[in-house]
Amino acid sequence: MNRRQFLKVLGLAPLALGAGRVPLFADTRKDPLRGLRIIDAHAHPDRLHLTRHEPDQSSTVAFMTEMGMAASIFAAVGDRVHLSNGRLPGPEHLQTMRQLDFWKDGIVRSGKVKLVLKSSDIRQSPKPGDVPGCILAIEGGDPLEGNPARVSEFYEYGVRLITLIHYSNNHLGDCMKNWTGLNPGPRNGGLTQAGCRVVERMQQLGMVVDVAHADSRTLKRITEITRRPVLDSHGNPCAQADTNRCGRFRTWKDMELIAKTGGVVCTWTWGMTQGRTTRETFRDWADEIVTMKKRLGMEHVGLGTDGGGGVPRFVRGYRDIRDLAHLVAAMQEAGFTHAETAAYMGGNTYRVLEACIG
Ligand SMILES: [Zn+2]
Repeated sequence: MNRRQFLKVLGLAPLALGAGRVPLFADTRKDPLRGLRIIDAHAHPDRLHLTRHEPDQSSTVAFMTEMGMAASIFAAVGDRVHLSNGRLPGPEHLQTMRQLDFWKDGIVRSGKVKLVLKSSDIRQSPKPGDVPGCILAIEGGDPLEGNPARVSEFYEYGVRLITLIHYSNNHLGDCMKNWTGLNPGPRNGGLTQAGCRVVERMQQLGMVVDVAHADSRTLKRITEITRRPVLDSHGNPCAQADTNRCGRFRTWKDMELIAKTGGVVCTWTWGMTQGRTTRETFRDWADEIVTMKKRLGMEHVGLGTDGGGGVPRFVRGYRDIRDLAHLVAAMQEAGFTHAETAAYMGGNTYRVLEACIG
């Protein structure tokens, strides 16, 4: 009898998942996060608020510390000027540096997080209360303006991951269809020459190339030229039947290309039903990982919550990163071993970090 059946017998089935933070069976399911080296491949914890728009507070340094998260990406938004639709003055480089400085002069300097410059800076066996690792990143390569020298500048600063594309067709390549309502600008037709040079420089120096938000053509070219595993830091698979209208979702073909580089496709907290895609519950999220394991291999799936990124709605019962305990419980119910759960929760992303940043 599994946990869900057991709860059904007790008439508690609706409580099986996501009903609260307090585990129902503390004796058997005590602290599902224990022993996991959790690495969030995409989040914006404790970010600088540049406009009145208030993003969600689902990922914070306080929660990371409380739960014993090993490390998280801290992504500065690289196309904040574009996204503000004229409210923020440019250039993008200025607004990106403001966001990065806010973290570096704040939580990094005060020791609330440890800046991760090499993968070995990430704790092997973090416990609740330990200082989490901070991997500085840029979501949207717009501030690079296609110039590889800017890559070097950000590397020197401590940035270790760049999501090349966000919500505009920038100097590097093109974005997926999005729902921002903002004009993403003229398309390039895939990865540009400057985009190629940027990828090359990033990999020479030791940075992770993140293909999230990049459209299929841009992604394909990146996977052809890359010499390291690439990461897709946040998203979810697109149902096969919807392949021609995937929008922000990844096609299986795209995900297979990422896996072939040795890379990882990370899935997020977004709760939604769109087309044939249903991800409303922790169980749906876990079942999606089952399908990805079958089609891509367990070593190619990871976690990227997008906490603080303004996810429109979460899977039911998810309020903040501490609720990842419910995902772990759902993965256990879905039959994942501890090693597989650990691979999803951070092990696979660690492997990519190690291969890229050293
Ligand atoms: Zn994003």
